[in-house]
Amino acid sequence: MNLEKMTAIEISNAIKNKEISVCDVVNNTIQNIEKNEEKFNCYVSIDKEDALKQAQLIQERIDNGELNDSPLAGIPIAVKDNICTKDRLTSCSSKMLSNFKPTYNATVVERIKNAGMVIIGKANMDEFAMGSTTETSHYGITKNPWNLNRVPGGSSGGSAAAVASNEAVISLGSDTGGSIRQPSSFCGVTGLKPTYGSVSRYGLVAFASSLDQIGPIGRDAMDCAALFSIISGKDEKDATSMDFEKFSYDEIKNSGLKGVKIGVPKSYFGEGLSESVKEKIYEAIEKYKELGAEIEEFDLDIVKYAVPTYYIIACAEACSNLSRYDGIKYGFSAPSKNLIETFVKSRSEGFGLEVKRRIMLGNFVLSSGYYDAYYNKALKAKKLIQDAFFKAFEKYDFIIGPVAPDVAPEIGANLSDPLKMYMADIYTVMINIAGVPALSIPCGFDKNNMPVGLQLIGKPFGEKTILSAAYEYQQNTDFHKQSSPLV
Ligand code: GLN
Repeated sequence: MNLEKMTAIEISNAIKNKEISVCDVVNNTIQNIEKNEEKFNCYVSIDKEDALKQAQLIQERIDNGELNDSPLAGIPIAVKDNICTKDRLTSCSSKMLSNFKPTYNATVVERIKNAGMVIIGKANMDEFAMGSTTETSHYGITKNPWNLNRVPGGSSGGSAAAVASNEAVISLGSDTGGSIRQPSSFCGVTGLKPTYGSVSRYGLVAFASSLDQIGPIGRDAMDCAALFSIISGKDEKDATSMDFEKFSYDEIKNSGLKGVKIGVPKSYFGEGLSESVKEKIYEAIEKYKELGAEIEEFDLDIVKYAVPTYYIIACAEACSNLSRYDGIKYGFSAPSKNLIETFVKSRSEGFGLEVKRRIMLGNFVLSSGYYDAYYNKALKAKKLIQDAFFKAFEKYDFIIGPVAPDVAPEIGANLSDPLKMYMADIYTVMINIAGVPALSIPCGFDKNNMPVGLQLIGKPFGEKTILSAAYEYQQNTDFHKQSSPLV
């Protein structure tokens, strides 16, 4: 049985049919970690012994027939290191939380445990999820499984690279402005940023609370649908989580694309988009036409406000959320002579450069003299962006376009120029501002064999529509089945 070529659902079925045991599957993932982790550095922490213990207990539950309804029972999963795991390091890849072991599990962690999934380790990320390359981690950079000189994307770079390198069968990431979709695109895997409110944020260390969502990264759309069905749904511990009509992952099989209307924003294809990405996106659009969908271009000029709006709102919320790290309540505390010095030294030494930049930006846009000029204006732009999407969705079932303007950059290429890095978030940040779901699926490779991702953007709670459309595409292409020669 070649587990690397199977989806998580297929592996779980093989376990239920007694063709393989949970321990065998976990051992296989551990072998892949032993082979690849030194090269890629996908994880902040790995607990092999604990994973094997979990595997035994889950095997018993499977043998007792308790997990027949769980599509991912027995599957090894990597969890991004900003998602709380009880008694287990949850560092957010920051020195600030390098000794933080939460006393409770995030709701998503409770749910994956109930579903019989095996947590293998905590995935590396940009510090506090701020970044697009996983280079700001306190635990070293993660490398792209397709090319060791390139970044895996970010901030969920470890989660995406773990799936691409078979160091996990599936993973959880978080997405505030693209952090699930962009690394999925750079690493050639499938990633879903769910509708705001569909997945509980309880136990997700907050970056920008009005934008953050946890979501799945997997080998294909069906695996993402299965994990989404496990983690989503109302949670009384998160007041922003919502009840919505849930669907079973295998329902995405039956939809087809006949009569489906897809909108393509013209403004997505202007200056800044690389030729190779453009070409692959156009090919994907052609494929959708061939499969029976109706494609129409439309204006979404509001895209020009996306990046500034996002960075003002995200930084404003981040500086408030991160004020809790004062050297007393959580994590790192610098030796100091008095209280003020404790605050100042702990924050100065505990946070990295990018996090500090955002705290300063956030405090600036919220300060009394600038609040109206920046923060208030950004809230107005947010409303315009939401309206533009809702208007488009009156006409289209979903929208497609690129995930990122280019393939994964070389390591170091972006760090010196943060503005350039922020601009590359142009296609992803609007989705979080609008609160809608979006998916990244592999749609080809550039001339250097680097993966390119296609973004499918859905209506609020329209996960089923975009996952079905992705499923249909993946039934008719095999980009998602390619694996890197380095793995
Ligand atoms: N790249 C974006 C940022 O740096 C998105 C981060 C995210 O989604 N967590 O803020």
